[in-house]
Amino acid sequence: MARYTGAVCRQCRREGQKLFLKGERCYSDKCALARRSFAPGQHGQARKKSSEYGIQMRAKQKAKRYYGVLESQFAKYFDMAENRAGMAGENLLKILESRLDNVVYRAGFGMSRRQARQLVLHRHFTVNGERVNIPSYLVKPGDVVAVHGSACDKIKENVELNSARPTPMWMSMDKDNLKATINRLPERSEIDLDVEEQLIVELYSK
Ligand code: SF4
Repeated sequence: MARYTGAVCRQCRREGQKLFLKGERCYSDKCALARRSFAPGQHGQARKKSSEYGIQMRAKQKAKRYYGVLESQFAKYFDMAENRAGMAGENLLKILESRLDNVVYRAGFGMSRRQARQLVLHRHFTVNGERVNIPSYLVKPGDVVAVHGSACDKIKENVELNSARPTPMWMSMDKDNLKATINRLPERSEIDLDVEEQLIVELYSK
């Protein structure tokens, strides 16, 4: 399946929640959801009663869109989550949070996860000193993610623009040297995605 290339604000409007897919615009009054807080399309404003399946599907779509992950990869993450000790839903969110593109975004190096993904693909980051250009790379506690070479000025600018966004407790930042150290994986309470992950587990358990 191809990556979604349509208007990303439609995804937030479909989920009825800000997914922060567009960087600075998401924090301004230009946000499409603030202006039109109903689903896109001809019947977007019609009242709909969702089935149980529909509610579970929306929870899954919301998480998928928030992290910019395609269906097949999301299903693989769910398998991984089920095979880990603990609750599958929480494990799934922890795996999604530990993707390199998400870490780059959370550290403030990218304005959005989309931009972070692009920066990773363009080889602007190292993990423990090695160049990594795979957005789905999963970081581990102790890993150090650093900016490499030529993109430093642009990324420094992003870090300044993102300074109001708090650094998650599970990583520590060295803003002068553009480095983020992963101290541990996040707890569920530290992940700000407003989704009932149990619904996703129920969907995949059918
Ligand atoms: Fe979503 Fe950002 Fe568009 Fe608002 S501006 S609808 S938060 S992508």
